[in-house]
Amino acid sequence: MKRLYEPEAYDTSYWPESFWRASVEEVPEHPALEGDREAEVAIIGAGYTGLGAALELAERYGTEPVLLDAAQPGWGASGRNGGFACIGGSKLPDATVIERHGLDAAQEFHRFQRAAIDTVADNLDRYGIEADTHSEGELCLAHRPGGLAELRAEAETARRRYGLATEVLSRPELAERGMGAGTFHGGLITRAGFALNPMKYVLGLARAAGAAGVAIHGQSPVTAIRRDGARWRLETPGGTLRTGRVIVATNGYSSEDIPPALAGVVLPALSSILVTRPLEPAELQTAGWRSDMMAYDTRRLLHYFRLMPCGRFLFGTRGGLSAGPGAARQVRAMARRQFEAIFPGWAHVETPWFWSGLVALTGSLTPVLTAAPGTEGVILALGYHGNGVATGSHAGRVAAALAMGEDRRPALLRAAPRRFPLPRLRRTALRAAYAAYALRDGPVGA
Ligand SMILES: Cc1cc2nc3c(=O)[nH]c(=O)nc-3n(C[C@H](O)[C@H](O)[C@H](O)COP(=O)(O)OP(=O)(O)OC[C@H]3O[C@@H](n4cnc5c(N)ncnc54)[C@H](O)[C@@H]3O)c2cc1C
Repeated sequence: MKRLYEPEAYDTSYWPESFWRASVEEVPEHPALEGDREAEVAIIGAGYTGLGAALELAERYGTEPVLLDAAQPGWGASGRNGGFACIGGSKLPDATVIERHGLDAAQEFHRFQRAAIDTVADNLDRYGIEADTHSEGELCLAHRPGGLAELRAEAETARRRYGLATEVLSRPELAERGMGAGTFHGGLITRAGFALNPMKYVLGLARAAGAAGVAIHGQSPVTAIRRDGARWRLETPGGTLRTGRVIVATNGYSSEDIPPALAGVVLPALSSILVTRPLEPAELQTAGWRSDMMAYDTRRLLHYFRLMPCGRFLFGTRGGLSAGPGAARQVRAMARRQFEAIFPGWAHVETPWFWSGLVALTGSLTPVLTAAPGTEGVILALGYHGNGVATGSHAGRVAAALAMGEDRRPALLRAAPRRFPLPRLRRTALRAAYAAYALRDGPVGA
């Protein structure tokens, strides 16, 4: 398996420590694949995408898919994220989408993203998953004085083009609503999406998949995909799986060669999270943040944060460049500095939890949801640009339909995956992009 980051990022021998892992009592251990097995459809990767695909295949198409994960369900980003189930998934600017594909295609893609949020809500409801949900929509906060005018224009466009319910708040209005902490100059509320405990959600999906007849195998890394007559043979250390169709749902944890058509398609990037101890009511009052609204800022290297129902504050950052030894300490220190700069009222508050995970960027800046070129019967479902709670949950179901010959994709996601130019230099390019973003964003907390 050829991978882009240091081996530490892919060490499946233990569960990464996180507040989410500690918030659930038990994590089921699914047995490894043993011996030689057959399946109509195989899925690689047991996060939201793979589990969504498995549920769709079992419930809608009556197949009995086999799901293989190098670790266990939820070990990847699906058990580590910020829990924002919201619109997103693409980094292609709206104006570019319209210029290249037209307004109809942009609106169709927007409906896909709204449907993705509904898929998460429906999953929670249908499978009885208790996931500590909160927040009606999300808040985008202007980090520059001029940012409020830009948010006003954005709100108007979102309303007109996509029928989104939006509300723009000045700095004093933010303070009135208990969202006045920090150094922000105003905000835009978009009434779409909600927040959840990502680990409870992914484990609930795994439970539902097991109940629907999906065979889930943990500790079963697929080390090779080979042609076997008209079928495919997936090799794992404990056994092989012969199958007619394969869905690859490995996102930020993808390998360049599983399948080889993925070479140069994905650029994994680190995202990291701090979680505070429970905050005292007086601390919420003095710092000026009492709202349960999930929020992020307008920086390119954005911060995302929310006050959780348990009274702890989650604070997420982008921007780490290495998963090697010692890197976690540096990223943690950077995240802590940024937390204190943005929320000086909580500079004394301990942040006992910190962890990181990999998200996936793609050469097209849009999710990849398509047959792998030159690899008939293999479907790629990945690349959500750090926004896969909703998008991945929904894309998995759409990928399952595609595997069964039904195309429910929006036009924007029908293109073949585009490779990054100079794929060997992807991490170098990321370093340069981060430096440029940091310059453009300006100092944190200013
Ligand atoms: C810190 C952090 C914060 C984030 N915050 C948010 C957020 O608030 N909102 C949001 O929408 N998104 C967020 N994201 C992104 C989101 O978590 C991901 O987009 C989403 O979880 C992707 O789901 P997935 O199922 O496609 O992939 P993952 O959940 O990453 O699962 C991939 C799985 O593939 C398995 N795998 C890889 N290779 C192989 C192989 N060869 N054989 C077998 N198995 C293999 C891995 O073990 C892993 O379990 C965040 C991500 C991180 C890391």
